[in-house]
Amino acid sequence: MDLTEPIDILKGVGPRKLQQLQHMGICTLFDLLTYFPRSYEDQSVVTAIANLQAGETATVSGVITGIQERQAARRRMTILTAFISDGTGYLQITWFNQKFLKDKLKVGSRIFATGKITYAYGGQGSFAMSQLSSWEILAEEDGTEDKCGILPVYSITDKINQKFMRQLTTQLLEGMADNSQEDSWELPEVIPADICQQYHLLERNQAVRQVHYPTNAQTLRQARYRLAFEELYLIQCGLLLLKKQSQEQRQGICHRVNGYLVRQLFQALPFQLTNDQQKVWQDICNDMESYVPMRRLLQGDVGSGKTVVAMLALVKTVENGFQGVLMAPTEILAHQHYEDFCHLLEPLGVRVALLSGRLSIGKRRGIYEKLAKHEIDIVIGTHALIQDEVQFAALGLAITDEQHRFGINQRALLEQKGDALPDVLVMTATPIPRTLTLTVYGDLDVSMIHQLPPGRKPIRTFVRGEDRRELIYKFVLEEIAKGRQAYVVCPLIESKEESRLSSAQDVYEELSQGIFAGISCGLVHGKLKQKEKEAIMEEFYQGKIKLLVATTVIEVGVNVPNASIMVVEHAQQFGLSQLHQLRGRIGRGEYASYCILVSDGKTENARRRMEIMESTTDGFVLAEEDLKLRGPGQFFGSMQHGLPDLKMADVERDIDILLQARRAALESVDRPEYMSRVLPALRLQYQEQFMNIMEN
Ligand code: ADP
Ligand code: MG
Repeated sequence: MDLTEPIDILKGVGPRKLQQLQHMGICTLFDLLTYFPRSYEDQSVVTAIANLQAGETATVSGVITGIQERQAARRRMTILTAFISDGTGYLQITWFNQKFLKDKLKVGSRIFATGKITYAYGGQGSFAMSQLSSWEILAEEDGTEDKCGILPVYSITDKINQKFMRQLTTQLLEGMADNSQEDSWELPEVIPADICQQYHLLERNQAVRQVHYPTNAQTLRQARYRLAFEELYLIQCGLLLLKKQSQEQRQGICHRVNGYLVRQLFQALPFQLTNDQQKVWQDICNDMESYVPMRRLLQGDVGSGKTVVAMLALVKTVENGFQGVLMAPTEILAHQHYEDFCHLLEPLGVRVALLSGRLSIGKRRGIYEKLAKHEIDIVIGTHALIQDEVQFAALGLAITDEQHRFGINQRALLEQKGDALPDVLVMTATPIPRTLTLTVYGDLDVSMIHQLPPGRKPIRTFVRGEDRRELIYKFVLEEIAKGRQAYVVCPLIESKEESRLSSAQDVYEELSQGIFAGISCGLVHGKLKQKEKEAIMEEFYQGKIKLLVATTVIEVGVNVPNASIMVVEHAQQFGLSQLHQLRGRIGRGEYASYCILVSDGKTENARRRMEIMESTTDGFVLAEEDLKLRGPGQFFGSMQHGLPDLKMADVERDIDILLQARRAALESVDRPEYMSRVLPALRLQYQEQFMNIMEN
């Protein structure tokens, strides 16, 4: 039997069920096999009816003492009730609309059932069982013991019930490795034997069987470990193969050592590179000057000066007769980059263009044409850049900014826009803890910028209680009087009843009509139309708006050097990394900057987080702390795009397994005999993420 066969080759799956299963994402036998239980039901414990409690899910074994059939008047429903006794008490079991069961249920036969216990209304016994997740009539000779066990609980829908799911998985697993049957099947082992041994992994078939129908809690644990390991191992192998493959492909571009144009740009820069920037620039030059295509991740805090490094690299590729592309996640950011680039590069004769989703079709076509004819050297834009129409005459370097917002695939699409494999640089301002970097960026080399450019006045951060709001805003007013601008950030757009002050809308009204009456205030949030948002940001940028009330939409990219104050309302509601990103909006100019976190966070965790914000401005430290305090969920919350779909592993819980799997993958990728097992599995399970490998 081939596991890629459609699910309807199983007994009991007709066209209707097939469709319903497909809705659940179960199309093939393999999908079913990897449709892992959400939880388990321990039927090894049979509860005496006398000991039942309403609300719990329990397993009961008893003899049927009576059967009743009723018609519910209004909804034309048949209600079938069986009365059960186990010698300690009576229980009612109810089925709705299953008239046909009447023949199966006989007074005197023994029933074994698991379901939700509720209080009974009327009739015999004080408890009832409904929402049965499984039940069975036992033959005379059956003892109850051998029916006991831990049963899977699957995520189900209103069309597909638990019992049906169990029948399917049982049916599928029965055919496993049973040589007496001609359609028996077995999963090939994908993890090399010595790695299985080294990490004490359960054999694959056994793990799959155990995860659906565990013998006991320990084997279940082993099975889950094995399957999580397998998943992470495969993905790590995939990422490492991507890297290896692109390094072995010899058609990468070999840039020359820096020449006239790069030197001119250095001269035009109003500052010198910091040591960190210099180091990164060196890494990039080394990569670009080699035949092996560059695949580098540049991590650097907000404002650490990644853009200028990107600009240098793009100019280097132009100097070598190639074109460069810079992809930004938002229009605002693309715009800002475009202006910065034009300012410095037009005097050098470099042709820069902006490809925005907002351009008219005609204008866009004009740019496509010029790109194809090599009449543009550097193009900056958003997602619009990965459209099919965009084709380069000679793409030498592709850079994506704020990469965590794009997925592996989008990155790949950009890379494929040239004949030769272009060099690739990925930049992110979200400091990501190292362990997590591996999952999403496991195929990239990493460079980091730690230090901020000199001359910045450090941002001072204060945590203050709600009772100080008046004083805080008086201070803001004074700073605005001195010519500065300020942000006020709120967690919500509109208020919910409980917490009036969380909402940007309310705070805006309160402030603009109160203490800031007479000063131009603005409000910006995610529900505004893109155009409205940008118009307001533009006014703030030009200094027309002095006080900007906002939600986290200002998180990415906005650069207003004159804004030196940020007040964050209900600061405890934000994660550390997010607060850090927000805080990075200020301290971008020559002025002393203040970040005031308004928080009445009562919990220990909230207090601790506020303290950390006060004590450090190092994004990497904050990221590690955030990971400790809140778990990686929030990192992945914002990076979902980049992460393959995991069925068993949970990066929040399984960081240790991830590290082990990474180590195992590193030991494996260079061994073709290992990869010959891994590749088919990758193809079967993650083809979307790793389509690039598949082609070779
Ligand atoms: P990032 O993209 O990393 O958030 P930017 O590249 O936008 O940061 O840099 C932030 C600001 O710092 C910009 O105004 C930039 O001109 C300036 N800058 C960058 N590098 C330096 C440097 N070495 N010395 C002084 N200012 C710098
Ligand atoms: Mg940037």
